[in-house]
Amino acid sequence: MSKVADIFETMEYGPAPESAERANSWLDDHGRAFGHYLGGAFTDPDAGESFETANPATGVAMARVRQGSPEDVDEAVRAARAAQPRWWALGPHGRARYLYALARRIQKHARLFAVLESMDNGKPIRESRDLDIPLVARHFYHHAGWAQLMAGELPDYEPVGVVGQIIPWNFPMLMLAWKVAPALATGNTVVLKPAEFTPLTALLFAEISREAELPAGVFNVVTGDGRTGAALVAHPSVDKIAFTGSTEVGRIIRSETAGTGKRVSLELGGKSPFVVFDDADLDSVVEGVVDAIWFNQGQVCCAGSRILAQEGIAVALERKLRARMETLRMGDPLDKAVDMGAIVAPVQLERIRSLVEKGRGEGAEVWQPTWGVPREGWFYPPTLCTNCAPSGTLAQVEIFGPVVVMMTFRTPAEAVALANDTRYGLAASIWTESVNLALDVAPKVKAGTVWVNCTNFFDAASGFGGYRESGFGREGGREGLWEYVRPTWEGTAPQAPELSAPVPEDVPPPGSAAGAPAGAGGGDTPAAGGRSVDRTAKLYIGGKQTRSDGDYSMAVRGVGGRVAGEVGWGNRKDVRNAVEAARKAQAGWAARTAHNRAQILYYLAENLDARRKEMAARLASMSGDGKGAAAEVEAAVRRLFTYGAWADKWDGRVHSTPFRNVTLAMNEPIGVMGAVCPDELPLLGFVSCLAPLVAMGNAVVAIPSRVGPLAATDFYQVMDTSDVPGGVVNIVTGVHDEIVPTLAAHDDVDGIWYFGSAVGSTDVERASTGNMKRTWVSYGRSRNWVDAHQGEGEEFLREATQVKNIWVPYGE
Ligand code: ADP
Repeated sequence: MSKVADIFETMEYGPAPESAERANSWLDDHGRAFGHYLGGAFTDPDAGESFETANPATGVAMARVRQGSPEDVDEAVRAARAAQPRWWALGPHGRARYLYALARRIQKHARLFAVLESMDNGKPIRESRDLDIPLVARHFYHHAGWAQLMAGELPDYEPVGVVGQIIPWNFPMLMLAWKVAPALATGNTVVLKPAEFTPLTALLFAEISREAELPAGVFNVVTGDGRTGAALVAHPSVDKIAFTGSTEVGRIIRSETAGTGKRVSLELGGKSPFVVFDDADLDSVVEGVVDAIWFNQGQVCCAGSRILAQEGIAVALERKLRARMETLRMGDPLDKAVDMGAIVAPVQLERIRSLVEKGRGEGAEVWQPTWGVPREGWFYPPTLCTNCAPSGTLAQVEIFGPVVVMMTFRTPAEAVALANDTRYGLAASIWTESVNLALDVAPKVKAGTVWVNCTNFFDAASGFGGYRESGFGREGGREGLWEYVRPTWEGTAPQAPELSAPVPEDVPPPGSAAGAPAGAGGGDTPAAGGRSVDRTAKLYIGGKQTRSDGDYSMAVRGVGGRVAGEVGWGNRKDVRNAVEAARKAQAGWAARTAHNRAQILYYLAENLDARRKEMAARLASMSGDGKGAAAEVEAAVRRLFTYGAWADKWDGRVHSTPFRNVTLAMNEPIGVMGAVCPDELPLLGFVSCLAPLVAMGNAVVAIPSRVGPLAATDFYQVMDTSDVPGGVVNIVTGVHDEIVPTLAAHDDVDGIWYFGSAVGSTDVERASTGNMKRTWVSYGRSRNWVDAHQGEGEEFLREATQVKNIWVPYGE
């Protein structure tokens, strides 16, 4: 037996186990078998298929839970649907009281939650006790506040309705809180499907919600694996799916929900860079790496899994890291002195092993500490990989385990390029003692969260979510609320009358005897009188009027079927050229000052105003409505003014996070945006799409109205005189069925707006999954473009931007 004196000598930790007694007796009270939680009660655990959930540290089964069937999901959705109107009718204060009661009860049962979480997931008790569960309570408190403030802060919004929420196993309770708290606060009801490996704390939460007398049906849990999740996604009466998990499953969900009108928010994978400049405090960096990649055994979507070290300090950093890794303690997750626990399941352990072996096969050097991992249970040691090519498996694939790669760079520009050399964009951390350097690099890294000299900080007041293939939507903060509400007018908006697509008529180029181009069905009538029109509007790409790739034009028919003019018949190649031009221009445009962008928008307005008669005549030639045309031009001028005004006023925020931190929520442009403009009001619709996107620093590929494309092509003359840099706005006219799919599927387009039919909306959403681009589609819903609520304003600005949260700690 060791004496106190011996312990002083060796300074070794003894075991300090947290008691599992209360968690075990809670499980025993339930007979270690659980049904679903539907409509305020647990269902029979033995009524159907079930499976066991095990303790990863021992491999021993803890309890049996049900595999939810489509019928179970249906019952849950019905319960949620039935409860929703009354929950909304409770009003802000009524809901706030419940959220507050939930927060209080989570705190009261905090230790039980933490122990159960560690037993089911394998994470160290220190993490579940000190981080996960306090943050869970914090989310409910914070959102009790949003419930209270909703009427004043979101006056013209209502809940989306019934929300299906599907969460992963890495932070079971925290992910529940991130999703459930904002949904309930804003008046939605919820069906939650926890991950199959970690369902227990969600069931405990269900029980506690009953204790808090949350009305039956407001919160429901259906347990099960991916099949249960798929049934929830497919259920026709679910209004929104909120998902956190792998990019693969996110992609499936995006395409399954395409065209259903279901709102979707996705928080997906990551391969986050951890950038260390040579002036960084290396001892802090080492602790940062511990938190970045060994926290939760690296099973963190935003884990800093790619260390990018400036060459001068790389050797020293590696040496320090190895020394620190030797001192990490791995073992029983309930031991309070343990740094790292177990991997959630054998399948995940196998995945980590095989990816590391693959990396080794590609030439990576794999280093692990000399101590051995526990034999019982599913453990994997902290692992540092060097000598990896940036394109190699270890540098590109999300491992979701305690494995970090280290690469080097020379200059800040190289660091940014390496940091962005990933399809993901969830988070990044930047380590340097120079605040100027950090704040120069932070906006250049494409990620939803950037931590400066810190890592893995989260809070309910700050939004969290991805850029690029890490998904879309934010969780937390004011920016997270928008995922759960919709403008009130939308609920009663009529469907727009479906316009049958105008039949394109080809007009052969002058002097050519060519007939209809391949694939142009219906182009059999030569445009009567087409050649009498002296000028064919061309496409507008990279600031130049260009002939369409196929060198064909289409006739645009106006009043009485007369040809009002001709526009270029753009094809896929033209779309690709336009995207390329937009990409070239975007960064430069975004880097301009907001004041400068505002000036250009005002200038556009001024020049449009100068041509108001000509523009109105053109519109009238297509619509036959002279008065309407004049009013439309006037409205378009005003709209340009609106976004000139907004350009330097769509401010970010400084969130009140409870650390010694400035948390800057910056509204950044999304990048290259497609805009398929509405058919109706061809000039106003076009300007209403273009102006907010451009004001916010995006570059645009616009596809104008099918019936009035000349309004847009005339507009490029206005642009030519208004200092809009080439490539910031590109216009491709043509047959929508031919060019929209190319734009929606293009991997270098970051987002797309589509104002058109339900069928077209479906196609756009489905085609967007390749690079998980953001979509904003109208499903054929009519929007009053003249109205100031519907036709302009914050909704457009939100859809034109994405929020990046930059955390900058202060103090010593
Ligand atoms: P991870 O890699 O984090 O386990 P997954 O994406 O596999 O991520 O799982 C996250 C959640 O998605 C889990 O709750 C899982 O059951 C669920 N899920 C898996 N497949 C599907 C699917 N096809 N549709 C809906 N949910 C699914």
